[in-house]
Amino acid sequence: MPHTEEEDKPCRACTDFKSWAKQQSKASLAPQNKSPAHPPDCPLDKEDLGHSTWGFLHSMAAYYPQKPTENQEKDMKKFFHIFAEFYPCEPCALDFWDDIQENPPQTRSRDALSKWLCDRHNTVNKKLGKPMFDCSMVTERWREGWKDGSCD
Ligand SMILES: Cc1cc2nc3c(=O)[nH]c(=O)nc-3n(C[C@H](O)[C@H](O)[C@H](O)COP(=O)(O)OP(=O)(O)OC[C@H]3O[C@@H](n4cnc5c(N)ncnc54)[C@H](O)[C@@H]3O)c2cc1C
Repeated sequence: MPHTEEEDKPCRACTDFKSWAKQQSKASLAPQNKSPAHPPDCPLDKEDLGHSTWGFLHSMAAYYPQKPTENQEKDMKKFFHIFAEFYPCEPCALDFWDDIQENPPQTRSRDALSKWLCDRHNTVNKKLGKPMFDCSMVTERWREGWKDGSCD
């Protein structure tokens, strides 16, 4: 179960940069003063952390063995439980933890793991009002590149 942070400090990894900058009352504004600028060498906010993490998780699933050993299956299950315990955005981690209790990692094959993870990501997408991803495209997106050759 994810730990609950006892510190009273705001959590940067739980906040998008715009809200974070507002909280800190020192937003540095991008050209045209449209939105706060986000220098590349700062701690990750919720969006950057999420985007990078999904990239890692989907890539890991895309390169998981087609026929894992029993130990590999066990380790991958363990990985997702530890991941859900320590993911730095605490509210995200709590919901993800609940989700994987109801929908445990499907580790019997690469396709099963990739589909399971795509569904978990879609659960988050739905909660955030983002578009659903077509899980039949997950291998193209995270391993092979699009069939139109745009990634080659
Ligand atoms: C485990 C976890 C839980 C999170 N929980 C929360 C939360 O509770 N609240 C919150 O505000 N943010 C949460 N986030 C962050 C959120 O999911 C996004 O990462 C963040 O909002 C940035 O979104 P994005 O538009 O860059 O695209 P992302 O959602 O980060 O997606 C990155 C890319 O993945 C591809 N993609 C999209 N959906 C799928 C899918 N279903 N399967 C495969 N590929 C896909 C798309 O090409 C997309 O561009 C969570 C992140 C993680 C890793």
